[in-house]
Amino acid sequence: MSDPIFERIAIVGAGLIGSSIARAAAAYGAAGSVSLYDASDDVRARAEALDLGNVTETLADAVQQADCVILCVPVGALAPVAKAAVAHMKPGAILTDVGSVKKQAAEALISADNGAVQIIPGHPIAGTEQSGPEAGFPSLFKNAWHILTPQDGKDESYAAAVQQLTDFWTALGAKVETMDPARHDRVLAITSHLPHLIAFNIVSTAFDMETVEQGEVVKFSAGGFRDFTRIAASDPVMWRDVFLNNKEAVLECLGRFSEDLAALQRAIRWGDGDLLMQEFSRARTIRKAIIDAGQDSGAVNFGRNQNGAKEDG
Ligand code: NAP
Repeated sequence: MSDPIFERIAIVGAGLIGSSIARAAAAYGAAGSVSLYDASDDVRARAEALDLGNVTETLADAVQQADCVILCVPVGALAPVAKAAVAHMKPGAILTDVGSVKKQAAEALISADNGAVQIIPGHPIAGTEQSGPEAGFPSLFKNAWHILTPQDGKDESYAAAVQQLTDFWTALGAKVETMDPARHDRVLAITSHLPHLIAFNIVSTAFDMETVEQGEVVKFSAGGFRDFTRIAASDPVMWRDVFLNNKEAVLECLGRFSEDLAALQRAIRWGDGDLLMQEFSRARTIRKAIIDAGQDSGAVNFGRNQNGAKEDG
């Protein structure tokens, strides 16, 4: 195994993403040692039992020796946590995060800047609907994009820090790309945030419908609805913070989405089969492009029905 990219890393927030980084850094030799801190006593005890690294009782103990500190807390918690971490970090160390929104996250991290640390916001485009330290696994970032949103107008030492962080995520199996934070938020608003909002909404609509027994919703959930329920099972705190912190881009997408939905509604009302065909065919082309780009499996029903039975309605 080659030398670790960082001698010591610290992870703050030992949930799905934090624990996956801890596991991956150890499994792929990307860090010599891993310290972890979580605000929750219960999560710290569970992280210790899972042997995720050196679990510390205070944030200061976790970050003070680290060459790279990775904040894996909900976006709304980033500003105070970044401030507390920077106060104890050694000069020249890197401060990064994994927040799903980047403009607000970058502002939160940069507001903690004391001029002695290198602040490089980031976001792994990888995850599941689960949370907590038990949910993490080392291969989570394999072949996934990791987006860094480095600051402009920095010096050579900053560029070297960006390269080192790039090497770290590459060692975890990720493909790293840099992007402007506002652009990141616009792209993710349509590819991730809006789909989650639709999933949360369709699940609550189904459960509120007076004409449908809740038992039937569960029983017949194979009809497309099941995939929405998986997405809608995602952590409510994380997603509340995503929508509160990417308000503009999400509202812009939602406006476009509502107009397009109204056009489909009208086509159904007036029996406009041509328009429905045109829109559905276009959507199918996009699905094919995603499979061709290796972003998903082309297996029947996401590979769930290996016997070829078609369950979807
Ligand atoms: P998670 O499993 O709920 O883990 C977050 C952990 O942070 C929890 O243990 C939480 O403790 C802890 N925490 C909250 N506030 C804290 C604080 N002030 N100091 C220290 N620890 C604190 O969530 P996650 O899915 O790993 O998400 C973490 C971050 O990753 C979020 O910013 C999210 O946007 C980003 N992200 C998530 C995904 C995904 O698919 N889940 C994908 C990419 C990026 P409590 O539970 O006790 O509050």
